[in-house]
Amino acid sequence: MTASSAEKAITSPDWVALNPLAGVSGVGGVRVDYVGQGDAVSILDQDGRTILRIDYGGRESRPFSVRPLARRQAEIDMNLPVLKGDRIFLTHWDEDHWCSAGKTSQAGRKGRWLTPRQWTSPRAAMTAARMNWVRCIPRHLERTPIRFLALNGDELWVEKLQHFDAATVGEDCNLTGVAFSLVQKATGRVILLPGDAPVHRVPHYARYVAGTHDLLGLVAYHHGSHTHWANKTHSYLNQWGALYDVIVAFSCGDPNSFNHPDLSNYWTALPRAQLIRTAQGAPVRISF
Ligand SMILES: [Zn+2]
Repeated sequence: MTASSAEKAITSPDWVALNPLAGVSGVGGVRVDYVGQGDAVSILDQDGRTILRIDYGGRESRPFSVRPLARRQAEIDMNLPVLKGDRIFLTHWDEDHWCSAGKTSQAGRKGRWLTPRQWTSPRAAMTAARMNWVRCIPRHLERTPIRFLALNGDELWVEKLQHFDAATVGEDCNLTGVAFSLVQKATGRVILLPGDAPVHRVPHYARYVAGTHDLLGLVAYHHGSHTHWANKTHSYLNQWGALYDVIVAFSCGDPNSFNHPDLSNYWTALPRAQLIRTAQGAPVRISF
């Protein structure tokens, strides 16, 4: 979303309204919902209740009716329910990350959205304009990891990776969006949720080092694409290559025109991990 009239800076009351861990005893894990090609991730508390949604997308091969639109939206509302004031944080404005939030969706009418400021498509801008409650991460918090704390010390980290630059031409939203992570205080185990950004380009991920932190799970960036995969990506993940039971979730449609996921890089970097696709037909759970 560009700097537009719909944009409002986050003021203190907004920040309180957006805190997904306020009053939460601890974080239970994540559920990667099955929406076809795209992302819709739920952060869960220790009782399995959704306390935050990250993205609300899904395009090719999505499990919802194509038409009529009212039926599709009803199916989405039933499978990805959003009640008044529920928080939805967006990784970036590519359509496969928000397109389940249609004109009449619960998500658009009832959700509280936190989004990155980015150059993007007119359709994305129109969707943002229709949202009843939406805020951008303010400039002074871009490139700054933001930490939310549960009552037991579990952490949710939120980081917009790059400053918005109005002079940029051809912004790659994958690289300028928002990345997330979860840390279980008692064990140091982490779950990485980088959106479509490669893990080695998320600055706050550098704090997670084998020996002090164990990787429990990863929602593979960009649906398992080999895009931007580099030696640094490999070496970052391979520090946990000896671990069993790391779960790598691939949120993608089957079939999809991008041939996601490309598993070969993950087999090499995390040879003992469980590689699971939502396209197998069910949500993928990663639980602390
Ligand atoms: Zn995507």
